[in-house]
Amino acid sequence: MTATTTRKPVSRTLIEEPVTSLYGVGPRVAESLSRLGISRIADLLFHLPQRYEDRTRVIAIGELVGGQRAVIEGEIELAQTVFRGRRMLLVHLSDGTGSILLRFFHFTKRQSEQLVRGVRMRCFGEVRAGRNGLEIVHPEYRVFGPGVAVPVEDRLTPVYPMTEGLKQGRLRNLIGQALNRLNHQGLPELIPTSSLETPGLPGLESSIRLLHNPPADMSLEAFSSGRHPAQCRLAFEELLAHHLSLKKLRENLRRELAVPLNPESLLCERFIDSLPFDLTAAQSRVLEEISADLAKDSPMMRLVQGDVGSGKTVVAAIAALMAVDAGCQAAVMAPTELLAEQHAKNFRAWLEPLGLTVATLSGKQRAAERRAALAVIADGSACCVVGTHALFQESVDFHRLAFLVVDEQQRFGVHQRLALRKKGMHDGRVPHQLVMTATPIPRTLAMTAYADLDVSAIDELPPGRKPVTTVAVSQQRRPEVLARVERADAKGHQVYWVCPLIEESDVLEAQAAEETTAMLREALPDVGVGLVHGRMKPVAKERAMRAFMEGKTTVLVATTVIEVGVDVPNASLMIIENSERMGLAQLHQLRGRVGRGSAESVCVLMYKPALSQNARERLRVLKETADGFEVARKDLELRGPGEVLGTRQTGVLQMRVADLLRDADLIPQIQRVATDLMRNDPAAVTALIKRWIGGRTELGKV
Ligand code: ADP
Ligand code: MG
Repeated sequence: MTATTTRKPVSRTLIEEPVTSLYGVGPRVAESLSRLGISRIADLLFHLPQRYEDRTRVIAIGELVGGQRAVIEGEIELAQTVFRGRRMLLVHLSDGTGSILLRFFHFTKRQSEQLVRGVRMRCFGEVRAGRNGLEIVHPEYRVFGPGVAVPVEDRLTPVYPMTEGLKQGRLRNLIGQALNRLNHQGLPELIPTSSLETPGLPGLESSIRLLHNPPADMSLEAFSSGRHPAQCRLAFEELLAHHLSLKKLRENLRRELAVPLNPESLLCERFIDSLPFDLTAAQSRVLEEISADLAKDSPMMRLVQGDVGSGKTVVAAIAALMAVDAGCQAAVMAPTELLAEQHAKNFRAWLEPLGLTVATLSGKQRAAERRAALAVIADGSACCVVGTHALFQESVDFHRLAFLVVDEQQRFGVHQRLALRKKGMHDGRVPHQLVMTATPIPRTLAMTAYADLDVSAIDELPPGRKPVTTVAVSQQRRPEVLARVERADAKGHQVYWVCPLIEESDVLEAQAAEETTAMLREALPDVGVGLVHGRMKPVAKERAMRAFMEGKTTVLVATTVIEVGVDVPNASLMIIENSERMGLAQLHQLRGRVGRGSAESVCVLMYKPALSQNARERLRVLKETADGFEVARKDLELRGPGEVLGTRQTGVLQMRVADLLRDADLIPQIQRVATDLMRNDPAAVTALIKRWIGGRTELGKV
């Protein structure tokens, strides 16, 4: 007899225990799971179904419709293996109300022997309307003998988000194992029950159990809108965990050192005097907020929100000069090569007349050029460095970086902000950070999404800006729009032509842009038309963008990939196709690409009739409102918070369950609980952060 080793009772918690301790998780499955952000058993519990299937009722075959996913039951009337280009097993199943064809392309000998006339079976699958009636390809099925009554499922069947190398069945099995563990080991409640009573949220464990294994009568409507109380309970805790991690982060930040900068800088004064314009009151105010931060010896972490064209870059340049005046360096980081180039151009034009050197770093520099740039950055002769992420590669060695500008915030996340700080560390001091964004978001949201930042707003445009005239035109009046393009070209002005965003397919999106380009080239043979879309090679994209920036092409056809922040003052006409499909904020951003020069600018919102009530309202808001903050407010009102920023923007926080905007109503209560826990229960704070953010990121390390 072999010695029996009794298993030691599990002492680790579900938060600490890796998925590899479950049955059936080897290195390959673990690897697939990690792609879903799952490495610990608890992560499986937080991996919620994206939808449910109702397998609790058997549907009469005669009542089936195409597209339905259903459980059916019947007797095989005929089964045959045939060749129709390939070998397949065809099974005709009937239940007295109708019959359906089950089609198997892959089947074993055992299956073909088992599935024969007279056998009773129950199947689940998606019903399709085939040429000869309804059919199901590869149903899940089980066979049972005569007179045997097999009960149907009494719970809804969860369908989980998947990844390559991991089948639905396997994932269900693993989550089932995790739920078993939950029954034995439990997950402690970390939020005081009293704090959950007001929003009326259920307990943690019961929420988890319910969502993975719901009864047939669960409200699917509440679930699919993300507002089921069990979902809210988990979202509440996740948002709380993120909020706490940012609060802790900020606490730690306050303890770090930075070089204090003197706001009374002569260099800044000379620069401001040299500008051909006066700063707006909003610019001056924000600048004061910034200089107050910079004067401290703890690092500034400030977000500047400002509408497109509100003059954020000049403000950043002035702040950068404070660092330069203190004998330090400033760096400006942009999200794309093109924007970096644009900033480099501006900073050179502004700083070189003051006798200062601006260096550029980009991914596409030649080796010699890059070496030269690295040298002046390292020895400090370049006081300002502009570039993309390339700024923070291993090989870049700053002489004395004290100030960092990150443009167009939404493309960088908290984690990148943290990494940047580390990289910029010098003599135990980290650089001050200024983050700029053109997408205003409401204050409660900003407090959670950017809880590690202070927020300033440039809420005024420079004077003399000609407001962009906005018109809405049905796409049936395309010839009139083409005539506008021709007139703009005749005056030497340039035009953006934005093709519709096709969410589900960048192939279709690219195709639409290509077709539009062909249409324009044919309709306006004398007008130079360039094209950029997301599927083009970066080199080709850059070439088309550059040709437009240099005025070599008149029209730039683009999918909405038009680089955020690109500045071509000569462009005075913006055409947006299928504008009814786009969000207000997005349309406003696009519109901000024109109206930057001296010419009267027009934004044409083309739409496909008939407009829905909501779309009509969106277009009306744009026609009547030029103020970005106002547009953002209306956007919230019209669409509800869940859709406003989309996953791209909230994705920076990598939430498992919560959606910052959809769950925005929970935020005030979350803030109260956070303050309370920070004060009274530091152990719960640490445990919450560990539970939700875990070892995944810098943020989880508390
Ligand atoms: P943003 O980055 O906020 O979209 P920019 O900083 O690119 O805006 O500024 C847009 C344009 O306005 C630039 O050409 C800039 O030189 C100009 N500008 C900035 N501030 C002022 C001002 N106070 N008065 C007039 N023009 C300004
Ligand atoms: Mg800008």
